[in-house]
Amino acid sequence: MKLAKRVSTLTPSSTLEITAKAKELKEAGHDVIGLGAGEPDFNTPQHIIQAASDAMNKGFTKYTPTGGLPALKKSIIDKFKKDQNITYNPNEIIVCSGAKHALYTLFQVILDEDDEVIIPTPYWVSYPEQVKLAGGKPVYVDGVEENEFKITPEQLKGAITERTKAVIINSPSNPTGMIYSKEELEEIGRVCLENNILIVSDEIYEKLTYNRKHYSIAELSPELKEATIVINGVSKSHSMTGWRIGYAAGNKEIINAMTNLASHSTSNPTSIAQYGTIAAYNGSQEPVEEMRKAFEERLDIIHTKLIQIPGFTCIKPQGAFYLFANAKEASLAAGYESVDQFVAALLEEEKVALIPGSGFGAPDYVRLSYATSLELLEKAIERIYQFMNRKM
Ligand code: PLP
Repeated sequence: MKLAKRVSTLTPSSTLEITAKAKELKEAGHDVIGLGAGEPDFNTPQHIIQAASDAMNKGFTKYTPTGGLPALKKSIIDKFKKDQNITYNPNEIIVCSGAKHALYTLFQVILDEDDEVIIPTPYWVSYPEQVKLAGGKPVYVDGVEENEFKITPEQLKGAITERTKAVIINSPSNPTGMIYSKEELEEIGRVCLENNILIVSDEIYEKLTYNRKHYSIAELSPELKEATIVINGVSKSHSMTGWRIGYAAGNKEIINAMTNLASHSTSNPTSIAQYGTIAAYNGSQEPVEEMRKAFEERLDIIHTKLIQIPGFTCIKPQGAFYLFANAKEASLAAGYESVDQFVAALLEEEKVALIPGSGFGAPDYVRLSYATSLELLEKAIERIYQFMNRKM
């Protein structure tokens, strides 16, 4: 059967690919350490599980409004008010089946054939594919390491054409862990307002910051609030990746179109997961802070060790749970032409799974997730060290 053109250029997620290979080796009895994880290694806090369980027992197991339960929208609105002092109305919020689905739905409703979306590199793997699936064209702008992988207003201006519809800002960033400052966001916001470009602000790692404050570009002025669709969710903040709850907030016409589209595709996100999310936002935020602290502790230890390995350089991340290290020199020194080959050999020989940067548009880099125990992280670093010693 001939598949649709739409999917012919679709590339599978590199993150999932290496994770699958690592799993295969593990199942074959190998002692694999996977540093590919894109999810916190903590359990969902108990009060959230209890709320979902209570919801089931009370019979809240039926369809809900497509865009989310009114009570959940209220929790999200309260969260925006508390964290960013932004006021949203319920018709400016849609709850989706994860932030990924919120982004997918957004691109489907804003892009026409060949409309351009500016994507800073390194980027989260799904952005370009989602833009292409909506008929749009990704336009890449290089976030260079010297500028903490962030794009400058000048670079943004230089990439804008009359077909530019939107720019994606992901802060804190996956894969780099970098955070845009308030001033940087103001400058980028100014360029977007001058050129009438929608800002897609993916803030899924908002709660995981280390000695840096997270700002939402939407909180900087009423004009920027109107020009921004904020994407967020509870996957990373409350360790709820499997619950599939994310949301979009912004211009009510866009949100309305997204809701119409969802009404013919997914309908509402899972009812009981929505009840769990209400508890996540309305209950104690102590577990969120505990997880953040655990990540920060690991980061401090593991970053120091990683940069001692010959050939590795890595600026210290300010958020999320990834280290994005330049491994070009290490790869060359170990006799590999590319970082992709180096990563494959490391998995084969030392059973350490890293994600090659090529999937994020930065082929000289590797991404290491520290969403795993400190013990395993230290063991993995030791193995990389041994690998380099043996090869050099
Ligand atoms: N945005 C970024 C930058 C991510 O890293 C992820 C998950 O890896 C998502 C969005 C999707 O999150 P969700 O689990 O809510 O779909």
